[in-house]
Amino acid sequence: MAPVASSSSLPLAPALYVVATPIGNLGDITLRALETLRSVDLVACEDTRHAKHLLDHHGLRVPTLALHQHNENEAAEKLIRLLGEGKRVALISDAGTPGVSDPGARTVAAVRAAGFCVVPLPGANAAITALSAAGLMDDRFLFVGFLPAKVGARKTAITALAAVDAALVFYEAPHRVLETVRDLAELLQPQREIIIARELTKLFEQIERLPLAQALAWLEADTNHQRGEFVLIVSAPPLRNGSELEAETERVLTALLAELPVKQAVKLATEITGQPKNALYARALALKSDNL
Ligand code: SAM
Repeated sequence: MAPVASSSSLPLAPALYVVATPIGNLGDITLRALETLRSVDLVACEDTRHAKHLLDHHGLRVPTLALHQHNENEAAEKLIRLLGEGKRVALISDAGTPGVSDPGARTVAAVRAAGFCVVPLPGANAAITALSAAGLMDDRFLFVGFLPAKVGARKTAITALAAVDAALVFYEAPHRVLETVRDLAELLQPQREIIIARELTKLFEQIERLPLAQALAWLEADTNHQRGEFVLIVSAPPLRNGSELEAETERVLTALLAELPVKQAVKLATEITGQPKNALYARALALKSDNL
């Protein structure tokens, strides 16, 4: 294999460098990110004090400029002026990858529209970190990020996601984790699994995998389980298409009806398959009459 040229020997070209920073453990930053932050003329960051903590930790002395959700348009214009003067600028957020549930997307779009180069530097991201330790066999995942804070809008959003044939990845804050998990358990099939990943890369990191139906009890069992920052991953729906679903439901219902009275069989089949009780009841009566 031909040797790959190291970027370290080349001077940094004028561009916007989008740099991923740690999500907790300050060691989780790439060599290239450190080299870039050392070489740029300015670091645009969500919170200058937060950024200084990271820069000081790595012995980096570089001017900073606040760029957050309330001033992103004006700050982006400032960066574009600097890029026009041939300056090299880095963009970081408080944690992880800029533009992922964080400011950055508008700046990147404006810089690109102004004709300047945008260079991404990959690194930490909470969703991908949680997925890497989830052990899910699902081929696909959908990154949802934060659900709406208002109950009605949150329930509508979860209901709309229920049939998506992929694992679902959410971000959540500690003060809302209980209600979000309660809604997920209520509105998604109970046999789906949840991975509760809290405080990733930090001292109290915890990654728990359990059936969705047991998640609320786990959170409530210990107030420590509700502390910190959360990534929640719900495994994909267990059955992937309508005919498989129907066949499996039919199989479960028939097996239960052979052993139990209709009411009990339907109750259990509802719990096992997650299918609507009324539909199962109607199907159970039809199966019974077929066998008379
Ligand atoms: N840009 C970041 C990224 O690339 O992951 C996400 C920033 S978003 C404002 C912050 C949310 O990400 C937190 O509320 C939490 O849901 C998740 N998060 C960030 N750091 C985390 C960590 N160490 N452990 C678990 N979740 C984390």
